Amino acid sequence: MAVNLQGQSLIGAGRGSGGGGESKAVNPSTGEELEPAYLAETEKGAAEVCRLAGQAFLEYREKSGREKSMFLRAIADEIDAVEEDIVARMTAETALPEGRCRMEKGRTCFQLRLFADLIEEGSWVDARIDHADPDRQPVPKPDVRSMWRPLGPVVVFCASNFPLAYSVAGGDTASALAAGCAVIVKAHSSHPGTAEVVGTAVRAAVEKCGMPDGVFSVLYGSGRTVGQALVRNPEVKAVGFTGSRSGGRALMDAAAAREEPIPVWAEMSAVNPVFILPGALKERGEEIARGFVGSLTLGVGQFCTNPGLIITGSEGRSEFAEQVATLATETAPATMLHKGIAASYHAAVGAMTKKSAVESLAQVGADAAASLAGAVVLGTKAEAFLADESMADEMFGPATLMVEAEGEDKLLAVAESLEGQLTATVHATEEDRAQFEKLISVLERKAGRLVYNGYPTGVEVCHAMIHGGPYPATSDGRSTSVGPRAITRFTRLVCWQGFPEDLLPDELKEGNPLGLSRIEDGVRG
Ligand code: NAP
Repeated sequence: MAVNLQGQSLIGAGRGSGGGGESKAVNPSTGEELEPAYLAETEKGAAEVCRLAGQAFLEYREKSGREKSMFLRAIADEIDAVEEDIVARMTAETALPEGRCRMEKGRTCFQLRLFADLIEEGSWVDARIDHADPDRQPVPKPDVRSMWRPLGPVVVFCASNFPLAYSVAGGDTASALAAGCAVIVKAHSSHPGTAEVVGTAVRAAVEKCGMPDGVFSVLYGSGRTVGQALVRNPEVKAVGFTGSRSGGRALMDAAAAREEPIPVWAEMSAVNPVFILPGALKERGEEIARGFVGSLTLGVGQFCTNPGLIITGSEGRSEFAEQVATLATETAPATMLHKGIAASYHAAVGAMTKKSAVESLAQVGADAAASLAGAVVLGTKAEAFLADESMADEMFGPATLMVEAEGEDKLLAVAESLEGQLTATVHATEEDRAQFEKLISVLERKAGRLVYNGYPTGVEVCHAMIHGGPYPATSDGRSTSVGPRAITRFTRLVCWQGFPEDLLPDELKEGNPLGLSRIEDGVRG
């Protein structure tokens, strides 16, 4: 391996000294511990990194869109250059296949370059100018201008299920750096080596681009000590998180309890319901069963958009359930990302299976102790589902609950009962649409992304994508963690009133020197 792993936090250009114990990554396929040991920081280390990030932010926030875009592109280039190191370490730490690692590396670099394009062009700041009118009666109108500006240092928690695309240089980091914020990454204990390889690549880009020391750091340590200390630190102005509901909620509560509360952009749990309407079931049942099981078992079900709930009517349901069960049974068990996730999966499936109103339609046996998981298909009726809200709990992994809801009223009642979701999917024919027209309107209130005659997994990185949704899918459903719109999560609006031209940011100057799309006196140009 070309990157020499040292097992210490990357604190700006320096290294952490630890003090909070040490731990090694474990290969989930073999149970073998991987070298080196990683030194956990203490709350003191967390304070030091926040101080450095606070200082770096003051310089970094003044960088032009072009300078920041060059930095993001340099990060992508440095990550490309260590692809083999990433693949070697990531496959060992996560049991993800090589193809997935390469694909995720590609997605990570694509995201960085997408944000680079966005900030180089510059119109994302949404500059608005209302010129003064000194002659207006009864009172003169002032000159008022506004745009998005960076918030301050952001803490990013790495996701266990996306070791690259939602980790050290993933979507949260890319959008925060693009916005002009310094970033402190809290590494995930399941893939510390992958974090070090990528973190070292980002550090190389910091140096090459002459960015301020401390604009980027990676910290090792426990979420409950180091993670909480970072979130509580007054220098920190926002948080990005992907993981469990309990972890996300703890961070939301910690952020809200600060003297100065700050936003936490947490992506947590979802069951991503798939509604199969009667016409579609009759017309394409077998095809849907195939597509559904593919989506369910993709990546051992370890996607936040995994379809954990499927709702059908009664007619044709038994045949469809049998097709889904057969296909699920044909899928071999596979290794999950880490022992903890495998244990949670088996516990969640066990709890659901124990319910008297739940029947097991297919259950691929797998050894939890070996971090293995097999596909599971369970079934129940709408009445039972509506009577027990824990039936809508996430079973993170390749498990789904099939709910039989006959008729529009029951189907709508199931839809209404759902908590906030990342996605909601409908399979329908023209005829179904007329008969179930209220469903889409209910689902629009429940989910961030509505999928029609498709499957929820496979989140395209593009300008229009929304990867968010009402609580508890996320902590705040007003934004997205995928796509360029994610950038405004780490900004706030600032207004300049009556300012002389030379004191205005270039984005707001007369004559539009940066050639941005702006709104001037109410007209978009
Ligand atoms: P997690 O337990 O939420 O941990 C994610 C990160 O948050 C880790 O760095 C963790 O630090 C930190 N953390 C957790 N609890 C915290 C707390 N109370 N205060 C401060 N920091 C805290 O998630 P995970 O390890 O990735 O997986 C555990 C379970 O989460 C899975 O079994 C699954 O059910 C769920 N999950 C869901 C999604 C989804 O997209 N829906 C994605 C991933 C995981 P430590 O490692 O030090 O605890």
